Amino acid sequence: MPQTSEEIYARVVAAVDESGRLPMPPVGEWDIFPWELVDGALQPKVLTPPVAVEEPRNGEGGKPCWTCAEGSDELVIWRNEHWKVTRGKAPTGLPLMLWLHPVEHLDGDDLDEEMAAEYGQLQVRLSRIMAGLPNIGRVHVCRWGDGGAHLHLWFIARPDRFPIILGSMAVEWDEMLPPGPEDVWHADWTEVARKLATHEGEALV
Ligand SMILES: [Zn+2]
Repeated sequence: MPQTSEEIYARVVAAVDESGRLPMPPVGEWDIFPWELVDGALQPKVLTPPVAVEEPRNGEGGKPCWTCAEGSDELVIWRNEHWKVTRGKAPTGLPLMLWLHPVEHLDGDDLDEEMAAEYGQLQVRLSRIMAGLPNIGRVHVCRWGDGGAHLHLWFIARPDRFPIILGSMAVEWDEMLPPGPEDVWHADWTEVARKLATHEGEALV
C-alpha cells in the first residue's frame, strides 16, 4: 500500500535544510528547462532560432533503443502478446511510476487499428488500477516521445492532498521528493501487475 501523505511529508521534513526546502533537482540545469534567473527573478529563457534538423531520438537514426535493449526485460512487470508494462530500477519520489510499451519497436503513430484499440483499453485499466491504490490522489497519463522512438506511455501516480503537487508540475516533484521505501514500492507494483493480469496477460512478479 502506498505511503500516506503524512508519511511522505515526514520523509520530506527529515530531508530539508534549515529553511525547510529540499535540494534543487538537476532539472534546473536541463537545456529544456524554460526559465532562468535574471537579476534575482525567474524569467523565460531567450528562445533560440529553430535548428535545421532535430537530433535523432533513442531507437532511431542508428541510436540504440532503450526499450529493446538487452537486459531491459528485467524491468517488465506484466506482458501479453503485444504489450508490456515496465517499472523503474528503484523507488521514485512520487508513489509509483510505470510505463506501457508495445513489445514490437513501434511508435504511437505506427499502431494499427487493433493495436490502437488495445492501447486505449490498457491505458484505462492500468490507470484505474493504480488510482485505486490507497493514498493515491490521481494518476497522470502522459505520452511525450521526444526522448525515445519506441512508444512509452507514462503512468504517474501522485499522492493525495498536497495542493502543490498537481497537474503537469506534479512530475517535477518526483525529482525532488526523497524516494519512498523499497518494500512499499515493490509491493505496490506487484499488486498492480497482478490486478492487470486478472483481465489478461501475465504478471512477471
Ligand atoms: Zn525499441
